[in-house]
Amino acid sequence: MPVDPLTEEQREIRELVRTLARERIAPRAAEIDKTAEFPWDVVDLCRDHGLFGIMYDEEYGGLGASALMTLVAIEEISKVCATSGLIVGVQELGSLGLKLAGTEEQKRRFLPLLASGEWLCAYALTEPGSGSDSAAMRSEARREGDEYVLNGSKRFITNAGVAKLYTVFAKTDPTAGHSGISAFLVEADAPGFQVGRIEPKMGIKGSTTGELFFDDCRIPAENRLGDEGEGFRIAMRILDRSRPGIGAQGLGIAQGATDYALEYAKARETMGRPIAEHQLVAGMLADMETKCEAARGLLYKCGQLIDDGADGAELTKVSAMTKLYCTDVAMEVTTDAVQVLGGYGYMQEYPVERMMRDAKITQLYEGTNQIQRLVIAREMVRENRAFLLAAVS
Ligand SMILES: Cc1cc2nc3c(=O)[nH]c(=O)nc-3n(C[C@H](O)[C@H](O)[C@H](O)COP(=O)(O)OP(=O)(O)OC[C@H]3O[C@@H](n4cnc5c(N)ncnc54)[C@H](O)[C@@H]3O)c2cc1C
Repeated sequence: MPVDPLTEEQREIRELVRTLARERIAPRAAEIDKTAEFPWDVVDLCRDHGLFGIMYDEEYGGLGASALMTLVAIEEISKVCATSGLIVGVQELGSLGLKLAGTEEQKRRFLPLLASGEWLCAYALTEPGSGSDSAAMRSEARREGDEYVLNGSKRFITNAGVAKLYTVFAKTDPTAGHSGISAFLVEADAPGFQVGRIEPKMGIKGSTTGELFFDDCRIPAENRLGDEGEGFRIAMRILDRSRPGIGAQGLGIAQGATDYALEYAKARETMGRPIAEHQLVAGMLADMETKCEAARGLLYKCGQLIDDGADGAELTKVSAMTKLYCTDVAMEVTTDAVQVLGGYGYMQEYPVERMMRDAKITQLYEGTNQIQRLVIAREMVRENRAFLLAAVS
């Protein structure tokens, strides 16, 4: 019996997403990978079926925001196409700053455009010299009257060039470390804003990953998110809620690879029987399925916690564990899926080759898995489990 805490209504939404993924997105996945072109047709499909709405409250044009349903949608789409799953994931990532720290006016202005999918958005934290160490960023924002003037650059930004709204982090006080960082909403047509090179990459090839340049880029002061100096805290609160989305992408890729490997193993015969009946292959399939199911348990639990309003240390730890576990599973399981298919698994003609390449990114972005381990261990060290020590003294 699979882990499934969804309500009847949530199952109906999952069924809709699953059907769209299988019938409309799966047939496009290999081509999206091959051409490395951003799949606007998938964006249109999500728009037409109101899928972006699951991330937003009804008052802003959504269906009633649900973190759990967002994770389920990312998982279902990523089973067939990781690039397409990321479209939903990054819409959430790019909106979370507004949802968590936006004023009512900012929310009313931008969230309906994002809820309908008319606008795509992005999250711009990373710079050429600051990835894991995001506080080392060099971009700056200087207040001039009713405006901020941004200078600097960002690197590896998902949705670069296709987003209309960017959540950008820059230092308003370069001498103050973490507490000198502020967050801003930058519209794609802001003067002085430019998208640079789009990077060719190993996987999720249809997703754009690019540079952003701010050259005396002027934005209205009312586009600041939260107070000056609050940006780092906002960036981390966003990641606590968006990292499970990468977990969902990883789990989707892993389950898709498991499903494909299973059907292949039932049909492929060696030594007079299907390879699924050879115990060493059967054991791999069993491990793949078990890892996916365990990852799903953690993922759905994390989604429910977010929907129940979890915050602070509790969420930070479970969100990091979810991202870490689901994405390590993605890499292990897709590697095993290639093994189950033998030489055919290495061929581009079979989807597990793409899935293995796509899985790798999930261990890297939104904080590498080393960083997730550091976060989890840091939270553990703060906890007190001294009752066990008391028992032996
Ligand atoms: C395809 C893609 C899309 C991306 N999308 C976005 C996006 O939309 N927005 C955005 O802001 N960023 C994005 N990123 C950036 C991504 O989050 C960073 O690449 C990532 O956080 C790692 O930073 P880095 O590449 O600078 O690696 P580094 O920080 O240089 O790390 C290099 C290695 O050292 C390890 N390491 C670093 N510090 C420590 C430490 N203290 N302890 C142990 N190990 C450590 C890392 O785990 C890694 O293995 C994207 C990246 C890619 C590749």
